[in-house]
Amino acid sequence: MPLMKRVLVTGGAGFLGSHLCERLLAEGNEVICVDNFYTGQKKNILTLLDNPYFEVLRHDVTFPLYIEVDEIYNLACPASPIHYQFDPVQTTKTSVHGAINMLGLAKRVKAKLFQASTSEVYGDPEMHPQKENYWGNVNPIGVRSCYDEGKRCAETLCFDYWRQHGLEIKVGRIFNTYGPRMDLNDGRVVSNFIVQALKGAPITVYGDGSQTRSFCYVDDLIEAFIKTMATDKSFTGPVNLGNPSEMSVLELAETIVELTGSKSEIVRKPLPSDDPTRRRPDITLARENLGWEPKIKPLDGLKETIKYFDNILSEFDK
Ligand code: NAD
Ligand code: UDP
Ligand code: UDP
Repeated sequence: MPLMKRVLVTGGAGFLGSHLCERLLAEGNEVICVDNFYTGQKKNILTLLDNPYFEVLRHDVTFPLYIEVDEIYNLACPASPIHYQFDPVQTTKTSVHGAINMLGLAKRVKAKLFQASTSEVYGDPEMHPQKENYWGNVNPIGVRSCYDEGKRCAETLCFDYWRQHGLEIKVGRIFNTYGPRMDLNDGRVVSNFIVQALKGAPITVYGDGSQTRSFCYVDDLIEAFIKTMATDKSFTGPVNLGNPSEMSVLELAETIVELTGSKSEIVRKPLPSDDPTRRRPDITLARENLGWEPKIKPLDGLKETIKYFDNILSEFDK
């Protein structure tokens, strides 16, 4: 039997973090979930609370943390535009001070650190699809910058701790991911469209809907996290983690209307500023180094997610 590891997941009560905690526990690890519950919720980890190998700490990663662990997954950071733009200064602090503290912790206890980075480091990309060697096209002073530049600086910190202190780092650039436990109200496109379709409310397409995203189902992504952490010391990333199947926002709206059998009409709303026009990962590096690629087809993933939101909404009706 493999040795039990003690794994820290920051942002462990969030959408991705809760799935990761669940997976790590299922593999026989001890998990410490650190979260300040800014966007995360107790209900995401409710089923884990009875597990004696699971521990929750209400803590803000912008403050130091002294514990003993073998591995760190640093996910703490609001991910949806409405949440990260609500208190942009705190968003930058979370990414930058949070990374410094988690890297300092990793250095002291000689732990490996996985940094949840993002496709947003490419900004509004001129290279398509995006490869890891593309440096990006990011506005440093716009409304999305607190998130984009915070995440870019966190990557810089990872690589400087690696060069300067020989830390074992793994930087994963996550592309749009969806699935059960996305927050109903966090404004991301998949949850918004599904909830609107299920309620028969207008589906809000921002701009003309021609902007594209590539959506990855959560189970595929969590598999990629585990595989990235398991690479040998020489593999630092950055590595793109996402599903290359690209679609326009309008196509997504139409697909969701069809899958839900909804009568909702599609309406147009203004395009938020700095909204990237297209995004698709080149996942060659992940295929070659992790032996990973997404397995879940977009339609199957969307059906699962629709089922989840349908249950949540019918709970409200009771
Ligand atoms: P989420 O908002 O559901 O989860 C983030 C979690 O971090 C929440 O539980 C929140 O309470 C916690 N948190 C925020 N600030 C904190 C702080 N200062 N201290 C401690 N905890 C804090 O978002 P998610 O989709 O699960 O994203 C998780 C990570 O993955 C984030 O770092 C995000 O940037 C990254 N990411 C996600 C996506 C995606 O599509 N879901 C894409 C790219 C990158
Ligand atoms: N840190 C932490 N937990 C630890 C070790 C360090 O939170 O177990 C924090 C510490 O507060 C420090 C930061 O991580 O501000 C960076 O640590 P590092 O050792 O790199 O730098 P220094 O302590 O010299 O500032
Ligand atoms: N979007 C939309 N309607 C919504 C929510 C989002 O058209 O109700 C668009 C948004 O403008 C963007 C895309 O969908 O072009 C993805 O938005 P999301 O906030 O999910 O993620 P991000 O912009 O960070 O990729």
